[in-house]
Amino acid sequence: AKVLVTGANGFVAVWVVKKLLEDGFAVRGTIRSEDKGVYLKETFASYGDKLELVVVKDITQDGAFDEAVKGVDAIQHTASPFHLNGTHPDDLIVPAVEGTRTILRSTLRHGTDVKRFIITSSCSAIEELLPDPQVYTEDDWNTQSVKEVEEKGVNASASHVYRASKTLAEREAWKFVEEHKNEIKWDLVAINPPYIFGPPLQEVASLDSLNMSMAAWYRYVVSGTADGEALATAGNNWVDVRDCAAGHVHCMTVQQAGGHRILSVAGAYKWQDWVNAARKIYPNLSVGNTTYDASQALHPIRYNTSKFETLLGLKYHTMEETSKAILESFEERGLWK
Ligand code: NDP
Repeated sequence: AKVLVTGANGFVAVWVVKKLLEDGFAVRGTIRSEDKGVYLKETFASYGDKLELVVVKDITQDGAFDEAVKGVDAIQHTASPFHLNGTHPDDLIVPAVEGTRTILRSTLRHGTDVKRFIITSSCSAIEELLPDPQVYTEDDWNTQSVKEVEEKGVNASASHVYRASKTLAEREAWKFVEEHKNEIKWDLVAINPPYIFGPPLQEVASLDSLNMSMAAWYRYVVSGTADGEALATAGNNWVDVRDCAAGHVHCMTVQQAGGHRILSVAGAYKWQDWVNAARKIYPNLSVGNTTYDASQALHPIRYNTSKFETLLGLKYHTMEETSKAILESFEERGLWK
């Protein structure tokens, strides 16, 4: 079977490609330009033509994926901007939403072999940023960020803009499937991960080009420059990139996964938890906040979810395991300064 992976050179996607190839699937990956495929091809050279790369220059152009979807059995749509330096909300929202609509339209027209469409959504499409602690499930939707962008436009915070882009893109996917349910032979699965950490397999020319979530991990855990107060109070929820990728691949073959949103959340963290986990393996890392007490940490966002384990039969890596894998890869790749 062959699987289409969009944005195949991204942090998450490279792991999805790796798992797919290891599981015996052939992969067609889309990239935005030829040069983005060189490192990727080298990474998976041993798989030969089991990995095919095609250039889709502008994912928002209607018909952009018409050729790419032909002959594939499943689609993993991961391509979407994840950064906080857009100058206009449209910089993120248009590729997220139009990119999703475009590939769904191409799939409707030409994806005759497609059985399942998986979209990499996010916890951002679920959680809101509220003053009181909340516990979320797969039934929740983030309406706050969409409202924020509608009301504030270019003055909306970068975080809300990204969160709105993910919410609107996922919403678009469910709407499309509902509208076309009598014409399609495939179903939809949304994977909703929180912050994703793990060893970067993608091309990383220098620390400056690390993807967003791993750049944050580096700054807080490795650089030794993070503010002590922030280490103890700032955090979120997380998942290991290898578990997130396994979720993407497993949900293709587990029949009952169709039609589900699947949260993949290993747990909540404050950055100091990562410093402590990482220092168990590399005691030379800077100690951070010595007064931090994990048992007293207040986590404003928590998740109550079990589909990842019960439906997909997967388990999560621990913070220590993830830290070890990250630090080893940073060291191997010469990123640890
Ligand atoms: P990366 O930045 O590493 O990868 C993003 C991928 O999307 C790249 O292939 C990139 O292509 C492509 N892309 C970005 N902007 C555009 C655009 N305007 N048009 C076409 N393609 C574009 O990020 P991640 O791997 O972390 O993110 C992958 C997915 O996972 C995204 O959907 C993201 O929202 C989601 N996600 C990530 C989380 C995380 O913590 N990392 C958390 C939750 C969800 P190019 O290299 O050419 O820019």
